Amino acid sequence: MDFSRGRQYRAIPGPSVVPESVLRAMHRASPNIYEGEIIGMTETIVGDLRRIARTESDVAMYICNGHGAWETALANMVGAGDRVLVCGIDHFALGWGEVAKRLKAQVEFLDFGKRTPVDPARVEERLRQDKTGQIKAVLVTHVDTATSIRNDVAAVRQAMDRAGHAALLAADCIASLACDRMEMDEWGVDVLVAASQKGLMLPPGLGFVLFNAKAGAVRSRLSDVSAYWDWVPRAKPKQFYEYFAGTAPTHHLFGLRASLDMLHAEGIEAVWARHEHLAHAIWAACDAWSQNGPLQLNVKDAVNRSRAVTSLRIGAPNGFQLRQWLEENTEVTLGIGLGMADPGDQSALGYFRIGHMGHINAHMVLGLLGAVQAGLEFLGIPHGPGGLDAAIRVISQPGCCSLPIPVKARQQPGNVKHS
Ligand SMILES: *Cc1c(COP(=O)(O)O)cnc(C)c1O
Repeated sequence: MDFSRGRQYRAIPGPSVVPESVLRAMHRASPNIYEGEIIGMTETIVGDLRRIARTESDVAMYICNGHGAWETALANMVGAGDRVLVCGIDHFALGWGEVAKRLKAQVEFLDFGKRTPVDPARVEERLRQDKTGQIKAVLVTHVDTATSIRNDVAAVRQAMDRAGHAALLAADCIASLACDRMEMDEWGVDVLVAASQKGLMLPPGLGFVLFNAKAGAVRSRLSDVSAYWDWVPRAKPKQFYEYFAGTAPTHHLFGLRASLDMLHAEGIEAVWARHEHLAHAIWAACDAWSQNGPLQLNVKDAVNRSRAVTSLRIGAPNGFQLRQWLEENTEVTLGIGLGMADPGDQSALGYFRIGHMGHINAHMVLGLLGAVQAGLEFLGIPHGPGGLDAAIRVISQPGCCSLPIPVKARQQPGNVKHS
C-alpha cells in the first residue's frame, strides 16, 4: 500500500513551508530596480520587520542565509582581539562562536549542556569577573534549533545589568522570529539576527540584522568593517541599491511583502499564540508516547522549549527508522537530530526533530502526529498509548493548557495596511 500522494509536509525546522500567497507573489517578471514599486515597497518591509521584532531599531538586510547574518552582526560589533562571551555550547551557539573566532575575536563559551537553558546567574558571575570590560558582546541563541532549547533573553539582559557590564547583547532569533514572543526593545536586545526561511515563511536567501543606537555607536568605533557587510549604508540608504550593496533580491522582497501581510493580518500576538498552542499539542502527544518506551522530549520543562521546533530522543536506530518510514509512507519529513552526537556515531541515529514553525495549522500538526504514531506502531517502537488523543484534546479544548486562544483576523489579503 502506498500512501505517499497528496501534499507533503516537510516538518523540518527550516526551510519551513512556504505559503501559496508567498509563492504567487514571487512568481512574476523581474521589476525595474531603478524606479517603480519595489522602492517604496522595500521601505514598508523595513518598517514591518521592526513591528514583528517589536523595536525601533535600525534594520539591515542582506542576501545571505543565517550564517551570513551571524557574520555581519559580528563584523559590525566586534573587532579583532575583542572578547566575545557565547552563552551555550549547543549546535548554533557553537556555530556562531566559530564565526567570531574566524573574525579573530577571542571567544569564550559558557556550557549549560544540551538539555537546559542558559543560567543568567552564571552569565552575571562571568561578567562581574570582567572588571576591565574585555568582553564586548554577549551572544545568545533565543531558540537553539538543534536542542530546541528556548533561552530567556530578557533574563540574560537583566543579568548583564546587574553586573553593570557594558557589552552588547546579541540574540540569534533565526528560528524564533514570528514564532516565539520576541520584544527586542523591552527585553533590551541590542542586536537581533534573523533569516527568511523559518518563521518568516520564505525560501532561504535573506538575512536580517536589527541593531539599536548603542550597537550603532559601537559600530562607529570600528575602523575596518568591510564595505559589503557594513550595516550603516544598508540601514540608512541614500540610494536604493545601498539596501543590498548592489542588486536587490527582487523576488524575495515580493515574497517577504506577502508574508509580512499574512503575519499582520493574523496579528503577531495571534501568530505567537498559534505557535504556542500547536506546540502544546505536539508536546501532549510526545508526553503520552513517552510514558512507555524510549521516546523523550529533549527539554524537560515546557517553559524552556521552543514553540517552533521540538527535539526528541528515541534511541538508535529508532530515530533514523522513524524518519525513513514517515518519509517513504506518509509524505511527512521529520528533521534529523543535529549536534546531539558525532555524525559518524551510531547514537546519532537516535534523535529526530519536529519543525512546527511558520505556515502551519491544526490539521497539519494532527496529521503529522498521526503519522508519527503510525510509524511508532509499524516499527514496533514501544510507546505509551493515547498520544494523538492527547493532541486532539489540546486542539479541541483550547483552555486546557491555559493559553491565549488565537484570534483570527478576517481581513482580505488585499486590504491589509502596512506601516
Ligand atoms: C537555521 C539557523 C541558523 C543557520 O541558518 P542558515 O540559514 O542555515 O545559515 C542559525 N541559527 C539558528 C538558531 C537557526 O535556526
